[in-house]
Amino acid sequence: MPRLLILGRQGSGKGTQCVRLSEHYGVPHISTGDILREAVSAGTDFGLKAAKIMEAGDLVPDDVMLGIIRDRLAEPDARAGFLLDGFPRTSAQADGLAELLGSLGRALDLAVNIDVDTEVVVERMLARGRADDTEEAIRQRLNLYEEQTAPLLERYRDEGILVTVDGVGTEEEVFARLLATVDAHT
Ligand code: AMP
Repeated sequence: MPRLLILGRQGSGKGTQCVRLSEHYGVPHISTGDILREAVSAGTDFGLKAAKIMEAGDLVPDDVMLGIIRDRLAEPDARAGFLLDGFPRTSAQADGLAELLGSLGRALDLAVNIDVDTEVVVERMLARGRADDTEEAIRQRLNLYEEQTAPLLERYRDEGILVTVDGVGTEEEVFARLLATVDAHT
């Protein structure tokens, strides 16, 4: 079972495709955005802090995110494979992930970049009308993606595990491209 991470701008259709990929490959879908939203709904102290950060379109601190991922990857269902969605988002998170996987004697098989242009994702996100999707927060999240997350593409390219899939098309078309690409490289 593959160990995958999926990269792509917010609004690239990444979440929907990750649900389908995780079903197809029988690996848990580990979405840090979903984990944080659960903490927000649970109304814990941490959830309240996270909610403020998420509403502003900022990033939750790296050490907090690494703790969440460490705990999640320690669960038995993640032993054979997993699909990471929304993590890592910074080079510190990518460093932490590499160290964590190294200590567990595991390695990533593939980093999959779902590629959709910025203008297209802004339109899509405004159309979906989620509570944290104000235009200002969308712009802030996309800026952070370019500054902090896009450099990770270079890192995984250098490691020889990056593949890029065109994310423009119907859900079915993009899913078919993803399967073909992952199957060809794992
Ligand atoms: P997402 O659903 O992946 O777009 O995540 C929603 C929000 O949760 C983001 O805008 C961030 O505020 C926060 N978040 C999710 N994953 C991370 C992460 N790996 N590092 C920092 N913040 C995150």
